[in-house]
Amino acid sequence: MTTSKHPETQVLHAGFRADPTTGAVAVPIYQTTSFDLGTTQNAVELFSLQKIGNVYTRIMNPTTDVLEQRMAAVEGGAAALALASGQAAITAAITTIAQAGDNIVSGTDLYGGTWNLFAHTFKQMGIEVRFVDPSDPDAFRRAADDRTRAFFGETLPNPKLVPFPIEEVALIGEALGIPLIVDNTAAPLICRPIEHGAHVVVYSTTKYIGGHGTSIGGLLVDAGRFDWEKHADRFPALNQPDPSYHGVVWTEAVKPLGPVAYIMKARCCVLRDTGAAMSPFNAFTFLQGLETLPLRMREHCRNAEAVARTLADHPAVTRVIHPSQFTGEAKARAQKYLAGGNGGLVGFELVGGVEAGMAFIDKLQMLHHVANIGDARSLAIHPASTTHQQLTEERQRAAGVTPGYVRLSIGLEHIEDIEADLMQALDGLGRVSKAA
Ligand SMILES: *Cc1c(COP(=O)(O)O)cnc(C)c1O
Repeated sequence: MTTSKHPETQVLHAGFRADPTTGAVAVPIYQTTSFDLGTTQNAVELFSLQKIGNVYTRIMNPTTDVLEQRMAAVEGGAAALALASGQAAITAAITTIAQAGDNIVSGTDLYGGTWNLFAHTFKQMGIEVRFVDPSDPDAFRRAADDRTRAFFGETLPNPKLVPFPIEEVALIGEALGIPLIVDNTAAPLICRPIEHGAHVVVYSTTKYIGGHGTSIGGLLVDAGRFDWEKHADRFPALNQPDPSYHGVVWTEAVKPLGPVAYIMKARCCVLRDTGAAMSPFNAFTFLQGLETLPLRMREHCRNAEAVARTLADHPAVTRVIHPSQFTGEAKARAQKYLAGGNGGLVGFELVGGVEAGMAFIDKLQMLHHVANIGDARSLAIHPASTTHQQLTEERQRAAGVTPGYVRLSIGLEHIEDIEADLMQALDGLGRVSKAA
């Protein structure tokens, strides 16, 4: 078994050598709901966590287990947990340590689904989310109190694409005894949140991890570095007997397995009870994607960088939003946190506002008009008329969405073909505005 620290090697080898019964080199799809428990003594040991093993696929499955081990290795964490979607992963990340009456502090620059979860569904559940401006890390300290159970931020949030101050907020959290959860969906490999101090990393594997655009999935990686016992008053969920699991105290019960109290509670209680499990088939498709992630991320970054340069020179474009074009504080953040590349997302603003944004999308011939990111294919969307349509123009602007803003997720096609499609759509706009 490899102990390589290189992601290019880990994505091919970590967590699996060959199937013990058949010798299969590709990870088999264990499409089964249940596993034979063997002797009653064996069953007792499995159910009391004296021993970890497969019981029922809602909680654990051998195909999914390889994805989890591989992602934990790639991310530099202690353990991982796969879930049915990115949204399920974020929900589990928070509800493992927060309950009604508790709060978390989150940066405002969030994926829309996360925003809805935090502002509405968590509120209904009694978990308050305090939103703060992530350009001011100290705002996290000011918003925290005794009931704060986590800090939350997105590494590379669109549309602004200004990286989250991971290290700054993680250090504030360390001092207060509050873990930092980072959604790294838009920046796998190019940003390594655990190296900057993040305690839990969340993914929508739907995006770059898969890359093929075939499967919805999510994943949590536990860095295994947060000292839950030292902050026992803040984290009764992990330090007091858990009535839902025969009175187990998670920080004590899992000690022989390593620093995995958080992820074990997430698996054995939250996933067990809420049931948002990843299917073994989807775990298999994510393993296929993961094998080429390092190669793909390099190419996404290279193509996006070229597109950003080309767009910046076009007369119909007033502004390009891409880390390579930043100045000042945003540039410093990008250089610090995007050491492995600036990512595949590019935003730009069109002179002609909403009409130009919509016309541009309609003129695209190759790029897909899709509300997704991270696909091998290049994608485009005009947020003001779609994802951000329900917001007033003022609130759209606060979110970084101007009327003529277009978001691109640059894929792996040949750069000349990507640019040719963008250029013909942009040039078409010129004719429209002249004719009008
Ligand atoms: C897509 C996305 C999610 C939600 O993931 P799903 O797999 O669609 O549930 C969460 N965070 C970010 C940054 C995303 O892009």
